Amino acid sequence: MKKQFAVIGLGRFGGSICKALSEQGMEVLAIDTNEDKVNQFASIATHAVVADTTDENTLKSLGIRNFDHVIVAIGDNIQSSILTTLMLVEQNVNHITVKAQNDYHEKVLHKIGAHKVVHPERDMGIRIAHNIVSKNVLDYLELSEEYSIVELEAGEAVDGRSLIDLDIRAKYGCNIMAIKRGEDINVSPAATEHLMKDDIIIVIGADKDITRMEQDLF
Ligand code: ADP
Repeated sequence: MKKQFAVIGLGRFGGSICKALSEQGMEVLAIDTNEDKVNQFASIATHAVVADTTDENTLKSLGIRNFDHVIVAIGDNIQSSILTTLMLVEQNVNHITVKAQNDYHEKVLHKIGAHKVVHPERDMGIRIAHNIVSKNVLDYLELSEEYSIVELEAGEAVDGRSLIDLDIRAKYGCNIMAIKRGEDINVSPAATEHLMKDDIIIVIGADKDITRMEQDLF
């Protein structure tokens, strides 16, 4: 059976989630208090309804507890976002993902039981900053405050050099998890593997170590 999603709030963030899920063939219920927004998504989502999700009875009548995953993408109205999330938790929804506006909002959402809290503006800001500082950083995933996974593009400095020769684990304490070369991907590459310019290298490590390695080699 297809997974059933509900997206609450059809602003830029919720709207793009709703569209992307629908394009992937998922069943999506799109919800917003704003009728124009709902009309805009009527032909994109499986169903689109005008509803205020801070009203408990409304949520119940939508059968929200039966959805596999509910995404709360209410933007500026933090109070509505918190209240909606709380009621979803109370109704035992399986997966609740909520967009946070700021760190305080994020903390409250975790405390009341949201399963996942996303902070798209902050995360994208961090990614873009890394990409600006080093043009070889293609992508960046924060694992914790100190650790990340980074995708780096190999340049001249590492062209033709083996992993033993670069000695990344000993010198920088980072691990190369995978090397992408065109369509091929080598997961857990051997130490004898040679890098080539334009390879994409996926590295895991502490931020300070990754930065040192980036500056020396990429
Ligand atoms: P973004 O920054 O992602 O564009 P917005 O703040 O513009 O976010 O959009 C949030 C959406 O959430 C708006 O379309 C708004 O009408 C909707 N919304 C706000 N409160 C509620 C609520 N209580 N129930 C349902 N939808 C809501």
